[in-house]
Amino acid sequence: MNYSGVLSRYGNLLDLPEHTTPITLLEGDTPLIPVPRLAEDFGGGFELFVKYEGLNPTGSFKDRGMTAAISEAVGRQVKAVICASTGNTAASAAAYAARSGLRSIVLIPQGKVATGKLAGAVAYGAQVVQIQGSFDDALSLVVEITQKHPLALVNSLNPYRLEGQKTAAFEICDTLGSAPDWLCLPVGNAGNITAYWMGFQQYNTIKKTGLPRVLGVQARGAAPLVLGHPVENPETIATAIRIGKPARGEGALQAAEQSGGRIIAVSDEEILSMQRRLAGEGIWVEPASAAGLAGLQTEIQAGKLDPKKNRIVAVCTGHGLKDPDIITRQMATPTILPPKIEMLEEVILN
Ligand SMILES: *Cc1c(COP(=O)(O)O)cnc(C)c1O
Repeated sequence: MNYSGVLSRYGNLLDLPEHTTPITLLEGDTPLIPVPRLAEDFGGGFELFVKYEGLNPTGSFKDRGMTAAISEAVGRQVKAVICASTGNTAASAAAYAARSGLRSIVLIPQGKVATGKLAGAVAYGAQVVQIQGSFDDALSLVVEITQKHPLALVNSLNPYRLEGQKTAAFEICDTLGSAPDWLCLPVGNAGNITAYWMGFQQYNTIKKTGLPRVLGVQARGAAPLVLGHPVENPETIATAIRIGKPARGEGALQAAEQSGGRIIAVSDEEILSMQRRLAGEGIWVEPASAAGLAGLQTEIQAGKLDPKKNRIVAVCTGHGLKDPDIITRQMATPTILPPKIEMLEEVILN
């Protein structure tokens, strides 16, 4: 057997303690899918790729960080892990905890977590607690309880999460042979953008792969990094980035500034429209995952970003199956027919 996973592939580049005991579901190694028709829609003259992180074991990029965080926690013999989550961190923590025989507890904002994510956390055996408040309230509680009790915190405040998530930047450079000119991605709690920037810088130091400019994209109703202050009641259809007080906000601002990029916001309509457009390429992502590309499109169309001759990578963070309701809610009921060939002909050939 040829076991892999991000710790075995890139472990020597990750700053993890000696006691780390690898727990893996063979995450990572996700495809970098060329989307030339989409590039044409945006005006053409450049190369565009989707890093499809929805193909990780639990359907989001969170698995890259979670294999590292849980492996470290297992190595120091904690008995339980806890996180606050808009959904994907919960499912990932629950899966990796289950894999290692640890108990997992996840705090989610009441009524604001997509069906597929909640189902995942429950299926993997997590104890799920709904908080009557926002993600930010849930995260504050998790921080406080882990200071009082021997529970391992596995939110992206945990530095090992970022170590694991750096591996996506390594993979992109390994596939393309260098860093892209631009990287665009959604920003919620801002751990991922921080980790990508760490990863690109590290690879550039050791392999001279160059550095991308980073375009971080928030949802307009949850855009604290664009506004410059926390948002008390963040609102967006893109639940994975419905965060008003990003724990890694400073890292996001640094990534944007140091790379010569920026953080912008897009509307829910733009996000949903890009979700549909991507599905038209055969790539179905959850709404938050379409934000990076929606932001890229608005920047190009406003003449603020000239993509000519560039190579651009858009990170699509989670799978569409995580949030089926967003599609089915607005869907017309499919045609119902008796099992008769004439009627089928009439419906599909006319
Ligand atoms: C967690 C998540 C994000 C946001 O990532 P941060 O590290 O919190 O900025 C975006 N999209 C999806 C699908 C996510 O699960």
